[in-house]
Amino acid sequence: MNYDNKYPTFSFRISKSQKSDLDKRALADSTVPSTNDMARKIITMYLKGELIEKTEDLQTEKVKLQIEKIKAEIKYLQIKNNYFETFNHPMSRRAEIAIKPQIIEQKQVFQNPQSPYDESNRRLQCVDCGILFSWKSQQEFNSQLQEFQRHLVSKHNRVKTEIEREVLIDLKYEGDSR
Ligand SMILES: [Zn+2]
Repeated sequence: MNYDNKYPTFSFRISKSQKSDLDKRALADSTVPSTNDMARKIITMYLKGELIEKTEDLQTEKVKLQIEKIKAEIKYLQIKNNYFETFNHPMSRRAEIAIKPQIIEQKQVFQNPQSPYDESNRRLQCVDCGILFSWKSQQEFNSQLQEFQRHLVSKHNRVKTEIEREVLIDLKYEGDSR
């Protein structure tokens, strides 16, 4: 086996913005001497299974939470039934509330101080410059979400943070901005 067969060359075209993104990452990563090596590192990590797509992670996380919630609800119903069978009358409303499962879902992400979503006013705010993105209809909500993402790139020349990404995945239209 000659050298070319053992170590084949691999090349492909990417967009200008992907290239500049890679350049930046290569500069920030002291383990790689060049952008080319950065690309090789990413591909190697992916093939070794060390890179997992974030959306899948979130999806798995959500499913886990949903399962936990269902389990907690089943337990709650079992306690209620056991009470009824033991005492022959239903549990008081107060006792019911006390044992009702409190499952924390995606709420945390909306209440995180670095979250761009202002839950009480139903609007997005850029964490870099403070500009507001509000809406007066579902249609405007959809376009403002896109506007917000475009803003991060055009004004701040950066990709979304993890928390911004999560917010954008989970945020649903729940009414107009206040
Ligand atoms: Zn901004």
